[in-house]
Amino acid sequence: MLSLIQLQRRGNSPGVFVHFLLAPLFHYRIDPNILTAPRVRFAPSPTGFLHVGGLRTALYNFLFARNMKGTFVLRIEDTDRTRLVEGAVENLTETLRWAGLDFDEGPGVGGPYGPYIQSERTDLYRRYAEELIRTGKAYYAFDTPEELDAMRLEQQRMRIPPKYDRRALKLTPAEVEAKLAEGVPAVVRMKVPESTTVRFEDRIRGTVEFSSDRLDDQVLLKSDKFPTYHLANVVDDHLMGITHVIRGEEWVSSTPKHVLLYQFFGWELPEFAHLPLLLNPDKSKLSKRQGDVAVEDYRAKGILREALINFVALLGWNPGDERELFSLEELTREFSLDRVGKSGAVFNVEKLAWMNTQHTRRKPDEEILSLAAPSMLEAGLEEVAPGYALNVITLVKERMSVPSDLATAFKYFFTDPEQFSEQSRKKNWRPETSGNIEAVAEALRDVDPFDEGAIERVVRETAERLDVGAGKLIHPLRLCLSGESVGPGLFEMMKVLGKETCLRRINRGVRILSEESLASNG
Ligand code: GLU
Repeated sequence: MLSLIQLQRRGNSPGVFVHFLLAPLFHYRIDPNILTAPRVRFAPSPTGFLHVGGLRTALYNFLFARNMKGTFVLRIEDTDRTRLVEGAVENLTETLRWAGLDFDEGPGVGGPYGPYIQSERTDLYRRYAEELIRTGKAYYAFDTPEELDAMRLEQQRMRIPPKYDRRALKLTPAEVEAKLAEGVPAVVRMKVPESTTVRFEDRIRGTVEFSSDRLDDQVLLKSDKFPTYHLANVVDDHLMGITHVIRGEEWVSSTPKHVLLYQFFGWELPEFAHLPLLLNPDKSKLSKRQGDVAVEDYRAKGILREALINFVALLGWNPGDERELFSLEELTREFSLDRVGKSGAVFNVEKLAWMNTQHTRRKPDEEILSLAAPSMLEAGLEEVAPGYALNVITLVKERMSVPSDLATAFKYFFTDPEQFSEQSRKKNWRPETSGNIEAVAEALRDVDPFDEGAIERVVRETAERLDVGAGKLIHPLRLCLSGESVGPGLFEMMKVLGKETCLRRINRGVRILSEESLASNG
């Protein structure tokens, strides 16, 4: 007979619904988590910035929740006091908002299961640690760091795997009481049962098994009375009604400890889904050494949120066909954990750049302009008229990879070129070029209106009159006008620049370029 979980896996809500009808027949215990919408969480440790891997985890949780009409919770796991970074929580929530991943419950938003910042919940974890002590599932240990180091060295020497040797269990209850009363620093360790198999179902990996003998008696509560990640994470997932734990593969090896904790407390397990690792192109684990890993770095480079979201969505999930471009809405409709693979996903920055170009092209011109505005101001282009900038965007949109290209690659639309492509000058500027280009300028003076058809006609007629190929005029003209060897169609570009600018730049270009040619030929 199929279990509720299996039925649910076959499809989302219909499975639940069919099952609801059948349940009385089979005398199933109705799992309230399954009949209600799922609750998932993103549980970052605020270490300063959001890693692209974290963004992927947040995104998959968000998509899963939205797709299943569930709840997406943000929980801050800040119980490791040594790793705290000032302002990290604000930075994190701001980055998630920028990415469009709104959470339903969490810091600043509130919700029925708050507080959502673990450092504000420490009493709670202490109580649960004490409960485990009472039920014999955990114990106090009083070892000093030096004693633990000596133990590890000894284990290394004996070539046995490093593991707490349970010396604290030799203490009598009276000795433990006395040490606690004296205030000797104590930790609480979980008592991992010997020689059993800890098993859990992973939505992505199938059945995962660990021998309990490989597990250390994990510290649950540290001597500063703060919980470790393991205790706080399990207690909160339970208390916050989390139905699906979707997180990175690096946590697989912690999960057996968590499963044991659920068993110790007599709590029902959530479903687990461990997402595949993110890899560098050389298949090593994604690292800073081989490129940027912080979302804010990509943001600073002008990568659009749509592109970054689209890109990380495909790091592990695929739609089952060749499509590659998705909006957040499309992803929400299509996402399912069933299409997340096990094998590592390569982080390919060229692909991200390509996606950024695609998403830039899909944007309305006005939006591109507002995204480009900060870089334009930075480049000293504060005088630019918005109507003119929009004409430029319409013309060059297909060639932009980030909105800020407007202030860099296409800066020449707003100020006279500062430099001229040396390569194009060498190839296209001959001794006779100056005269030819001056002749074009002369003919352009009378063009009115100054539109691309009329400009083209005049340029081609001049070429015929001078008996040269049109290319002999087109390339040097482009060089004078933009300083570049390539760009949008010359005649459209001239129309956007306007007659006055074109004539001024041609004049200036001829002067500079012929001097340079003389200097380099002479
Ligand atoms: N606090 C952990 C982290 O920083 C969360 C892992 C989990 O989702 O359980 O990624």
